[in-house]
Amino acid sequence: MSTLEPGFLSASPPSDLFELDHQYLTTVRYFANRLSSCWHLELSRPFTRGQETYRACLRCGMHRRFDIKTWKSSGRFYSPSVERRARI
Ligand SMILES: [Zn+2]
Repeated sequence: MSTLEPGFLSASPPSDLFELDHQYLTTVRYFANRLSSCWHLELSRPFTRGQETYRACLRCGMHRRFDIKTWKSSGRFYSPSVERRARI
């Protein structure tokens, strides 16, 4: 006399449960990365080098474009070494 249904072990988990786990793991991974990486809170004054004006993070060195006309930073942070390779 068995209490298990015949297909119990071979049944796939409900797809909703998998989606929920995937979203949960993605959210946890995002916050873990956010906590462990630099938040770029301390930025240098604006520098103009060639045609490019940017501010640099004093902690990690990432750059962010700076608009002199509006006096505001814009766009995402980028690695200066990647930009240098792209120009060559
Ligand atoms: Zn930084």
